[in-house]
Amino acid sequence: MFNHLKSDCKNCFGLCCVALPYAESADFPFNKDGGEPCRHLCSNNLCSIHDQLRGRGFHGCVSYECFGAGQHVSQSIYKGEDWREDLEHAEEMFTVFPLVQQLFEMLWYLKQALTLKETQSFHAGLQKMYEETVELTEKKPKEILEIDIVAHRNCVNDLLKATSKVYRADIVKKGKKKRIKKGLDYIGANLKGLNLQGEDFRGKLMIAANLSQSDLRKADFIGADLRGADLRGADLTKALFLTQSQINSATGNTNTRIPGHLDKPSHWLNKKIS
Ligand code: SF4
Repeated sequence: MFNHLKSDCKNCFGLCCVALPYAESADFPFNKDGGEPCRHLCSNNLCSIHDQLRGRGFHGCVSYECFGAGQHVSQSIYKGEDWREDLEHAEEMFTVFPLVQQLFEMLWYLKQALTLKETQSFHAGLQKMYEETVELTEKKPKEILEIDIVAHRNCVNDLLKATSKVYRADIVKKGKKKRIKKGLDYIGANLKGLNLQGEDFRGKLMIAANLSQSDLRKADFIGADLRGADLRGADLTKALFLTQSQINSATGNTNTRIPGHLDKPSHWLNKKIS
């Protein structure tokens, strides 16, 4: 369902590892300017330390997802012409890539919204927005640089908020369970074992939050920062707008339940609930 909206590093020119700037922090061990290739990027455009990213402090790389923009920019927009071969070309490509990445992220969310029966009443609007977004990704580089991404994102967001509202409506309406305090971020919060069905975690900072054994079905995670969050034994089976990169950046185990379109990261395996 989401296969064309997943990164395919083998068909990308390592764009996220070159185009984006990184600052020395808990997420990246050294400074790197935008347009400067990461020292760990190989000439075949793959990462030489891919299996060691977490242990070596590259948490930002683990939690990054291009949603398929990398291969699209490399193979469709620039027709397979590598940035190494033309520096002037390269600068433009590095500016186009993050814009297209944002468009592909919107496509991923719209695609999920289109799969839900709860959104039937506005499927036509979702489909139209999906197609308009696809059209933007098919423009020429100079046209892409002219796109008002913020305005387009606002239009997409209105539909995604409407999706969240109707998708979580049955649980919000029941209102039987004690709800957690609204309007707060949850950095390091202890939410272990709670019934958090249908909660709205939109854009929340949930870094290192303890969500182990919590019921997170139908919770909306769009834009939530789950780096280091403990999801061991949690149930996220019907979680909304939960991405692979969010899952990758958290801790889970074989008992964690996740939506079918996502994969359990290898670092989750063989971790039992403590
Ligand atoms: S560490 Fe690997 S994944 Fe991260 S930016 Fe460098 S080459 Fe890319």
